Amino acid sequence: MKNYDIPYKTYLSESELPDKWINVKAFMKSQHDPFLNPATLEPCTAEDLKPVFCDDVIKQELDCTTPYIDIPEEIVSFYKMYRPSPLVRAYCLEKALGTPAHIYYKFEGNNTSGSHKLNSAAAQVYYAKKQGLTSLTTETGAGQWGTALAMATAYFGIDLTVYMVKVSSLQKPYRKAVIETYGAKVVPSPSDTTAAGRAILAKMPETGGSLGCAISEAVETATNTPNCRYVLGSVLDHVLLHQTVIGLEAKKALDKYGVTPDVIIGCAGGGSNLGGLIAPFMADKLQGKTDTDIVAVEPASCPSLTRGLYKYDFCDTGRMTPLARMYSLGSGFIPSANHAGGLRYHGMSPILSKLYHDKYMRAVSVEQTKVFEAAEYFAKTEGILPAPESAHAIKAALDEALECKRTGQAKNILFGLTGTGYFDLKAYMEYNAGNMTDYVPTDAELQKGFASFPDIPQNR
Ligand SMILES: *Cc1c(COP(=O)(O)O)cnc(C)c1O
Repeated sequence: MKNYDIPYKTYLSESELPDKWINVKAFMKSQHDPFLNPATLEPCTAEDLKPVFCDDVIKQELDCTTPYIDIPEEIVSFYKMYRPSPLVRAYCLEKALGTPAHIYYKFEGNNTSGSHKLNSAAAQVYYAKKQGLTSLTTETGAGQWGTALAMATAYFGIDLTVYMVKVSSLQKPYRKAVIETYGAKVVPSPSDTTAAGRAILAKMPETGGSLGCAISEAVETATNTPNCRYVLGSVLDHVLLHQTVIGLEAKKALDKYGVTPDVIIGCAGGGSNLGGLIAPFMADKLQGKTDTDIVAVEPASCPSLTRGLYKYDFCDTGRMTPLARMYSLGSGFIPSANHAGGLRYHGMSPILSKLYHDKYMRAVSVEQTKVFEAAEYFAKTEGILPAPESAHAIKAALDEALECKRTGQAKNILFGLTGTGYFDLKAYMEYNAGNMTDYVPTDAELQKGFASFPDIPQNR
């Protein structure tokens, strides 16, 4: 018999919203390798990063010691427009599966941008405004980051140019329309407006673009434009820091019922939502207080953790960014064009890469038809139409819950439901028409990406 004392949905009150982010690095016994300046191969200093990023986020990026970092009041006010997000007990899903497991998910799709990305967009734009910057550039793949950032730049009053991966701008014209409605400019990438874009077009005129390529264009424009900086929506330590509001809220809600998750599952593209969701739980694990099983879920067509190499690599295709030591498929890796499920980035957050390398978490990969099957099942049982990215986590949570059914274990499963799928209907149409296929790169194809790793001494 299930105990129904825990409500379907738990919302914290506004006064319970976190007023500090948690910096998981301060709890790690050893840190990830430093970013390297690609010209000198020396660790990046704040000075190296200043032409590209805002000063305050650089400080956060390089901070490995402060365990809790204040969230400025202006950002908390912005968060109050759409936070707290609900922690949902998935009673309906549990019943449909007939599992003894208790399933919880933290739903980040209740804002116009439709995903968790607004948590970092708000913070980064606030810091840019505080510094007196007048414009920002960024890249967007599926469009969620571009939308989130457009909402934040509109609110704080800063101009924004979004380099949008060309296939996405064609597949998702409505995303583009939302970004433009909030007043930002959208440039399909690769474009002829930057040297990086022109170089990629000269080599591959037919390319649909990639996140790595769009990053190169956005960074180039930011460094060539006065009073302008670049902002990134995932991967970097400060983005994970901002996303810890997800985990902090989830933990506070679960603590009310005395519930400790046994398994935490999140989809992983660049790693920001997963890094944010797990942060306070990982801090406990790192201190030996718990032994939570933490699972990253990635697409089989872009398997950076499960099949990539832990090496220094560029964060972009144009090979302009600092080098980060991370699990990567090589900055030259471009996922197959039939891949519709998002999470297309070639690398993975250096923090998560380090935690994975040190075996504090594990990773699984899933094929996209299975992901959409899980998405549809979830929509029918829990009512929410999930983003395909989020459905990677759903798929792994379903597998875990079914395993509990087989073994009779009543585990507490927490997963991150990062967003809604309203702008992914083309992919759902493909799936419903039976036209979706899986594509898993062969070892030989992965070798081509590995060949693009920078030719530097890797063991420092
Ligand atoms: C961007 C995005 C992701 C993946 O990004 P992470 O940085 O890995 O969190 C996952 N889900 C949704 C809905 C997204 O928009």
